[in-house]
Amino acid sequence: MKNVTSKYLLVGLLLVVVVAAVLLWPREAGLTFTAGTYEASAMGFNADIRVEVVVDRTAIKSIRVVEHRESPLIADVALLRIPAAVVAGQTVAVDAVAGATVTSRGLLTAITDALTKAGGNLALLQTRPAAGPPPQGQLTERRADVVVIGGGGAGLAAAVEAHQNGATVIVLEKMPRIGGNTIISGGAFNAVEERRQKAQGIEDSVERHFTQTYEGGDRRGNPELIRILVENAAGAVKWLEELGMKFQERVFTVPGGMWARAIRPEMPLGTGFIDTLGAYIEREEGIEVLLETTATELILEGGRVVGVKTTTAAGPLTVRANNAVIIATGGFGANVEMRDKVNTVWPTLTSIKTTNHPGATGDGIRMAEVVGARVVGLEQIQLLPLGDPRSGSLAGSIGRSVDTTIYVNKEGQRFVNEGARRDVMTMALMQQRDAILWEVVDRDSYPTGDTRNNFDETIDTLVTQGRAFRADSLEELARLIGVNPANLVQTVAEFNAAVDRKGGDAFGRTLFGDKIDTAPFYAASRAPTVHHTMGGIEINARAEVINQNGQPIAGLFAAGEVTGGIHGSNRLGGNALPDTIVFGRIAGRNAAAARR
Ligand code: FAD
Repeated sequence: MKNVTSKYLLVGLLLVVVVAAVLLWPREAGLTFTAGTYEASAMGFNADIRVEVVVDRTAIKSIRVVEHRESPLIADVALLRIPAAVVAGQTVAVDAVAGATVTSRGLLTAITDALTKAGGNLALLQTRPAAGPPPQGQLTERRADVVVIGGGGAGLAAAVEAHQNGATVIVLEKMPRIGGNTIISGGAFNAVEERRQKAQGIEDSVERHFTQTYEGGDRRGNPELIRILVENAAGAVKWLEELGMKFQERVFTVPGGMWARAIRPEMPLGTGFIDTLGAYIEREEGIEVLLETTATELILEGGRVVGVKTTTAAGPLTVRANNAVIIATGGFGANVEMRDKVNTVWPTLTSIKTTNHPGATGDGIRMAEVVGARVVGLEQIQLLPLGDPRSGSLAGSIGRSVDTTIYVNKEGQRFVNEGARRDVMTMALMQQRDAILWEVVDRDSYPTGDTRNNFDETIDTLVTQGRAFRADSLEELARLIGVNPANLVQTVAEFNAAVDRKGGDAFGRTLFGDKIDTAPFYAASRAPTVHHTMGGIEINARAEVINQNGQPIAGLFAAGEVTGGIHGSNRLGGNALPDTIVFGRIAGRNAAAARR
């Protein structure tokens, strides 16, 4: 009996050991590392992303992004969220961040590499952890007086104005962050403001701004809406300043802006607009943003828009509006299929890259059309001649103001008036060899290596990264960028003579600042890029959406780049941001008052 008992005991013990080994084996065998710190890098969107991973014997302890050149405002969510998700889940099988998929993939490759170096088992690292139970208590319906679709400049301005007029507000934003194209914009804001302009000896008037906008869009814009835009742009600056936003004093001309009436926020790029409006939303009650919430459909009841259907990670969510819905989803520059479908102006857009953020896909236009909205000028797509040849982004452009910059082709010759309309400049560039231009400036634009371009990059950084070239003579610069030195020297000499004369160059240029005659000289290459979609939902002066019969659709407003009919066939540089704030505010005010 004793023998039998000890036999059973032994078998039992063995079983326990085997079961324990089976249970522990995969984790022990896979997720064991050689404790230490490991580095690896992989290609992101702009350049290599380098990570540092710290592991102990059985776990990933921390991940740090040591170096990257990703666009900060687009990639920041991925750069924060992915390392945290890998550490939390002890797996590299984590989802890419919407809108930053290339960065996400590069980052995950670098992390995986570092973990493999640390001895981690790749198959186990790539195993997706079992899904947890579905979230409990997820609301399927929310309600506010005003529902705004899109958390860019127009949407946030509309939300704040509606709230200031007594409404409760919910903003729906499909991306993991607010900002849209507004946050990555150059921040240039056209407004006729006597105080700032007079201080620089600039003559201007609201009437001139009106005429340049109307004529610049080939008289296809709605004069009533243009007048509202130009008459309220300075008021929009004041409103933002009252909300705490700070603008620089310097007035300048944006490429395609036609006149020196642009000011820039103190914060880099378009961050100041989003920061200011976002801060208001954070501190006030009764106004909130739902991130990663994609509007898919407007709810129409009895001829009135009464809410929005959305999708979220936790399932569908309906957001009802007591008063009205405002569409502020921006343009469709990042939707190649939609661009191709409507394009009748450009030879082709299929292969042209874009300056836009990935969420600029025209969702609002599609949703509005379903409820009977009229659209206007969809074929009017603006290209800029100033995109990064590899990514289409405006980052890396070294022109700081039109009056101090020239563009030369691969022969080292100017080919267009750099102060011309954007479509004229881009069409001219498309006729040049390889459709590539070089921006050329001198020390007047960059007095020190720390001087920043319009996209918050120092010239030293751009030169170090090989995205701009610097030389002490024009001949040397020409050799660096591979253009004929004699041509470049002659081109610049002719340009400088035109600066002295304040006119009379071969291209009809009228905007002249300093000569290009002071070393060091700089150059950066640029290519055509899709920038802005001027067409969109038709609105009236109250920002109400117009139906096929020319009547407002009850309960529906729109503002910003999603609308059409303001900029005609060509938008002036620096006119879009005032458009978003001016019409965002109008939509917000009227939506707040649109009680059923
Ligand atoms: P956006 O700012 O793009 O916001 C729209 C928002 O809606 C986005 O956040 C988007 O994710 C969200 N959204 C879209 N679909 C949905 C959906 N289905 N559900 C929920 N949310 C959705 N203009 C100037 O005047 N001056 C400049 O210096 C200037 N520089 C620019 C530089 C760049 C690189 C770019 C791309 C544009 C620039 N522009 C400039 C143009 C200007 O920035 C834009 O026209 C303007 O910011 C558009 O604002 P918006 O609010 O209409 O759209």
